[in-house]
Amino acid sequence: MEATAIDPRQLIREAFAAREMAYAPYSGYCVGAALLTADGRIYRGCNIESAAFSPSNCGERTAFFKAVSEGVREFKAIAVVGGHRDTPLDQLAYFAPCGVCRQVMTEFCKGSFQIIVAKSEIDYEIHTLSELLPLAFGPADVPLARD
Ligand code: ZN
Repeated sequence: MEATAIDPRQLIREAFAAREMAYAPYSGYCVGAALLTADGRIYRGCNIESAAFSPSNCGERTAFFKAVSEGVREFKAIAVVGGHRDTPLDQLAYFAPCGVCRQVMTEFCKGSFQIIVAKSEIDYEIHTLSELLPLAFGPADVPLARD
């Protein structure tokens, strides 16, 4: 029994709205993410590039860091959309989170956490975190960090 239902279409819509805020003057690659919390809130994130490149941040991590910085640590799903700003919306490809973002997800989410990769509100795939990051190294692997 889930307290909060996951509505992929709503999350995808929010991810596209987040993508509008992407700051990608160097790559032109614009990413939007919408993170659903266990209690039903949605945090949006976009990628934020830097001229120095290394400080750049992915849309997924932006959403996670916004939520965690406000005290939220339980999540159910994230929708992710991305593509070059010049690519027509009807030609977007599925966009999966990078390895660094998958590792951040592992910090806060169970393997059943859902990752919705979408081309549109009606064209999407749902994967679990354990599918996208099998044999993950997580908090349980660091005994000193346990509560
Ligand atoms: Zn990433």
